[in-house]
Amino acid sequence: MRVELSSKRLRSDFVKKIAELSGQNLYLCYQCGKCSAGCPMGFAMDILPNQIMRLVQLGLEEDIANSKTVWLCASCLTCTVRCPRGVDLSRVMEALRLLTLRKNKNYVEPSKMPPETVADLPQIALVSGFRKLTS
Ligand code: SF4
Ligand code: SF4
Repeated sequence: MRVELSSKRLRSDFVKKIAELSGQNLYLCYQCGKCSAGCPMGFAMDILPNQIMRLVQLGLEEDIANSKTVWLCASCLTCTVRCPRGVDLSRVMEALRLLTLRKNKNYVEPSKMPPETVADLPQIALVSGFRKLTS
């Protein structure tokens, strides 16, 4: 991955907004990797949770937007419990999802889901999925 850093990015509205929405001090993370080592969804993620933290610190919004990681996060809090720095990474993941959804960008489009898939899925799964993945 090619990374372009600048002071503008480090102090961007994106970084400030994620800190505000999550209520976390993003700079406490020192990249130990314990969150990723325990994440039950890590096997399916294209960018691991500790890497997401690094991208947020550096203000690399586009790299996060191009990843499916925040949508795969199951909000299980394993990372939160394991973090030696007290970072609630699950809240950072939620803040990242919110930022996209607030732009009216859905991760899944309910109207485009095949009817047979909708019929197969339990209603409770659909409702909780739509709450997380749509604005
Ligand atoms: S809350 Fe999300 S990122 Fe954290 S361990 Fe669970 S699935 Fe992984
Ligand atoms: S466990 Fe905490 S300090 Fe370690 S990489 Fe994850 S968020 Fe950063």
